[in-house]
Formats: sequence, C-alpha cells, structure tokens
Amino acid sequence: MTEETEIFRDAQTLATFSNLNDAQSADYFRHNFQDFLPEDWWDIEVTIEPREITRSPERLSLGPPGPEERLKVWIKNQRELREAWQAGFPLEKCVRLISEGAIPYHLHAATQTQLSPAFRRATVWPYQRSIMFLATESWRARFCEHCGNRYVAEKPGRHYCSVECSGAARKQSRRTWWDEHGEDWRARNTKSKQKETANRKITRRITR
Ligand SMILES: [Zn+2]
Repeated sequence: MTEETEIFRDAQTLATFSNLNDAQSADYFRHNFQDFLPEDWWDIEVTIEPREITRSPERLSLGPPGPEERLKVWIKNQRELREAWQAGFPLEKCVRLISEGAIPYHLHAATQTQLSPAFRRATVWPYQRSIMFLATESWRARFCEHCGNRYVAEKPGRHYCSVECSGAARKQSRRTWWDEHGEDWRARNTKSKQKETANRKITRRITR
C-alpha cells in the first residue's frame, strides 16, 4: 500500500471513530482498529471542569458553564473531533486534537501507573496523523448528504459516504420526482399516445 492510500484509509478510520454513537459500535471499533489511538482512551475517565470551559473563548457564547462532567477520554476527544469536523478543521482545533492524542491519560487517573511503552517511545498514532491530513486537506472532511455520517471524500465531486448511500439517494430523488411530476407525466404521455393513435388512423385513412 502506498503512503498516500494508507493516510487516506486512516482518515476514513477517523471518520468511523467520529461516527461512533453507542457502546456496541465503540466496542467493535476498539477491537478492530487496535493501533489507531491510545488504548487508554477506552477505559479512563477524565473530569471536564467548568473552569476549563469558561476559559475557552469559543464556549463563552454558549452561556454559563454546566456542572462538572466525567467523561471517558474517547468520548471527550470524539466530541472535540466532531466540533473540528463541523468547523472544517481549523488550525487551532487541530493542534489541540493532535497534542491531546499524545497525553498519557492514565496519569490523570492513577498516579502510580507507569507510562506505557507506547508513550515512552512517543508514538505518533494514526489518529494524530489523520487529523494532520484533514487539517491540510479539509475539503475532504464531509457529511454524507443521505445518512448524515461524517466521511472522507476521495474526489471533490463526492456527496455521499458510500455506494449504498448514493444509490439510495438516487432512488429517493427519482421517487420524489415521480411524486411531484408523475401525474403530469402520465397525463402528457397518455395524451401523446392518443394523438399518436389518432395520427396513425388518419395516415391509414389517407393511404387507403
Ligand atoms: Zn451516507
């Protein structure tokens, strides 16, 4: 596999991560993309302090901060990733996401825990690389116009996340067209058929 297709595939995996929306899909992802992001993220919880929220200028417009929250690291990071996706991967958010990919979260949870070998080697996770990729080619980060899921576009003209979605969308637009114009079309068609039969009768009469 070339480097280019590998980073594209990683970016698609990032989209899959961003779309996880229940424990079952998260569990599936955890076991099928094991080296994509730090394993710690699935188990460790962090506290999102209201103080932190007030300090962030983006949150100021949302009003007073809510109560303190305990979140699994993957959910906290997924939330930030979704914001970045929505905003078109602005640089500041990307830098934050990438650097958070390098934080050894187990230090927050239990001080007695040793740094895992991956952190000792300062591993660069595919998660971080794919954010960097989408930061430089942000046009690729899209929402499917049929199912609404996030996906990574191969070409600028793409509108759907998969063949299934583009097929379903085509079928739906045909159905919508038929609902809106079907009656007109049928009427016009019957009329022109009637005309055709009448014309044929006339022609037959003349040629006889
Ligand atoms: Zn879709």
